[in-house]
Amino acid sequence: MYNYSTMKELLRKLIRAETTAQKGELAAAEIISDELGRSGIDCRIDSWGLNRANLTAQVKSAGRKGGLLFLCHLDVVAAGQAGWKYPAFAGVESEGKIYGRGSVDMKGGIASAVTAIRQIVDSAVKLEGDIIFFAAAGEETDSCGVKRFISNFNPPAFLRKQEGGPKIAGVVIPEPTDFDVVTAHRGMLWLKIKTVGKAAHSSTPELGVNAIASMKILLAELDNYKIRFEPHKLLGGCSMSVNTIAGGKEINVVPAECSIGIDIRTLPGQQFQEIISDFEKIFAKLKQKNSQFKASVSVMREVGALETDLSCDFVKDFCSAVEASETKAVGFTTDGPHLAPLGAPVVIFGPGKPQLAHKPDEYIDIADVGKAVEYYKNIILKFLA
Ligand SMILES: [Zn+2]
Repeated sequence: MYNYSTMKELLRKLIRAETTAQKGELAAAEIISDELGRSGIDCRIDSWGLNRANLTAQVKSAGRKGGLLFLCHLDVVAAGQAGWKYPAFAGVESEGKIYGRGSVDMKGGIASAVTAIRQIVDSAVKLEGDIIFFAAAGEETDSCGVKRFISNFNPPAFLRKQEGGPKIAGVVIPEPTDFDVVTAHRGMLWLKIKTVGKAAHSSTPELGVNAIASMKILLAELDNYKIRFEPHKLLGGCSMSVNTIAGGKEINVVPAECSIGIDIRTLPGQQFQEIISDFEKIFAKLKQKNSQFKASVSVMREVGALETDLSCDFVKDFCSAVEASETKAVGFTTDGPHLAPLGAPVVIFGPGKPQLAHKPDEYIDIADVGKAVEYYKNIILKFLA
């Protein structure tokens, strides 16, 4: 018999796997593979580098219905500088909660989905469509895992579309939404802008070009720059924030370089390239005023916005399966937009409070993880039985 102590133990093991950018995802992929293997579910670990890994599992069915894809990520952000009540990677249980980095984002969701899938398989219910469980590497950094999954690495058979429609009926992302049905999030464009000057001894600054001074001019110009957008019903507006700055090496050297990092959150339909060319136009304008001005922009990261069609059957049936009367938007981004080539609707739905993610003392209520198991089982039966 399956019980929640198994689910809890799985969650604690996943937290202890410490899947930060430094340590990689392989340990967590092996834990999930062992767990699903206990119900005879085939898993494939795709690993690369020293310790990077994606995991794919497929529960095969009669294939008369489109499958359900659970999209997760194995990695977590670092514990951070702040002190934690309990060690960040111990998975301590206290007063009905499990504490630890990743508990809410998103190992709680993984433990629920894996438990639900095992219970469905163990119950030997006949499925008309496949369950596919995919857990990606690198969602918190560069989405390398999902990109590898969708593009170049031996695309799994279920990605190939069948005649008359997609082979996947829908995608569920078990990220923490506190059981809200989420169908939209903004996109993310991270840019690095560098001004380039010319180094000189600072006793003779007139022989150099000060890159920090150039950045000052650029920052003043950016105060007047607004990205054009049409406000979105669920997502509001587009935002832009300059969040890092670095420049200069020595106190007695005129700096040859200065750079800033900008985080832009975009709405569906906004073109990243248009924003980038806005910056290039600003550089050109400043160069016209001062021929020594020199700047360049490069993309550090881009994630598309998510906007699932609310009128599609999948969203309607999903809402009825979990008894939700409305859909919402979230502030974080997911790997969901990378699955656009599947042509399947994407819904984010999972246990835990999203505001606890990436913070010290991150935790999840064990009862919520258990509740999610029941929801995921209902969803699987609704779409695949
Ligand atoms: Zn996440």
